[in-house]
Amino acid sequence: MKILCAGPTSIDKRVLDKMSLSLTNPDLDPNYKDFYKSVEEKYKKLINTKATSFFILGEAIITLEASICSLMEKGERVLVIYNGFFGEGFREYIENFGGEAVAFKGDFRRGINLSDLKDFLERDHDFALATMVHCETPSGLTNDIKSICSLLKSYGILSIVDSVSGVGGEYVDFDDFNIDVLLSGSQKCISAPTGIGMVTLSEAAKEKISKRKSRIPSYYLNFKYYYDSDLAPFPYTVNENLIYALDEALNQLLDKDFVNLHKKYAEISRRSLESCGFVLYAKDHRSNTVTTVINPEGLDKSETLLENLREKGLAISKGVGEITEKVFRIGHMGHNISYDNFLFLFKSLDQAFKELNIKIEGSLEESFKREFENYKEEI
Ligand SMILES: *Cc1c(COP(=O)(O)O)cnc(C)c1O
Repeated sequence: MKILCAGPTSIDKRVLDKMSLSLTNPDLDPNYKDFYKSVEEKYKKLINTKATSFFILGEAIITLEASICSLMEKGERVLVIYNGFFGEGFREYIENFGGEAVAFKGDFRRGINLSDLKDFLERDHDFALATMVHCETPSGLTNDIKSICSLLKSYGILSIVDSVSGVGGEYVDFDDFNIDVLLSGSQKCISAPTGIGMVTLSEAAKEKISKRKSRIPSYYLNFKYYYDSDLAPFPYTVNENLIYALDEALNQLLDKDFVNLHKKYAEISRRSLESCGFVLYAKDHRSNTVTTVINPEGLDKSETLLENLREKGLAISKGVGEITEKVFRIGHMGHNISYDNFLFLFKSLDQAFKELNIKIEGSLEESFKREFENYKEEI
């Protein structure tokens, strides 16, 4: 099956081969610890920083929950800035750990509006922390986190950013963007197997943790154990194999001009789709890692299209939340990206719509080939 999903993405065979290695006991071998630290250093290159970064074993969601558990104290007010499914999800973690979640809700089809947020903060800025999502994978939006985090910083509010589907695809400069806590995962643009969450902390974020009055109410989710303790870098047995796979995936990503590659494939995909009459869900701030397309007239539910494509050996994503059956999504993420994969995608979409008796304007395959020619020099 060719995987062009919005995550988990396809994985290169060399990455999977590395995963089959079993070379040592990671708990006892000091050389393994050195290797592990070198993988952390590679990860930092993706986000252009020297700031403290570490990995947590688990799906990326574990880093979202752990960030609230480690940074927030009971009773604190947290601003939940959201314009999509994942952004709204922070509320649950905040309330579970006894915080007060205050919502700033944006339009789900547009990037967070900075001047609205400015107005909001002028009226109310009594927050220790604010949460947000970099790339809202369900909507296909990438928020301008540099402007948002810098604005928050001017009020002394620490930012927690879910960039699970941004890091490795979108340009990120952790320090320049004024981010305090950056969270990511292995299975999106990095194209390693699912199971590793990545965390990066600013000095201010570490200070907030060290000045807590109450203890962090968890062992596994306690950030301190990963960077500031005798237990660091891993307070439990690490998955040796997953880290080999991650190392190889990072090598492959860093070998490419990965920001440019994602941007170009995103532009080509959007232009191909729009030239055939499709309407994109995001009206602005369109993501470079995922494109969300509104189902054309005549397609009653997304599953019908996905099922047809699976029979052709192709997997794409449907929507999430309220738009689950109303859109389809293409992940131009990490190892999904190649000329052959995208040619196959657009050819299969043409065939699928024909078989489903859905009329589209022209041919996606032809549009893709034409658009690709325009960008060829730049890829
Ligand atoms: C994929 C993703 C996550 C992790 O969620 P899963 O659905 O469990 O993979 C978290 N945040 C964002 C923005 C994501 O795209």
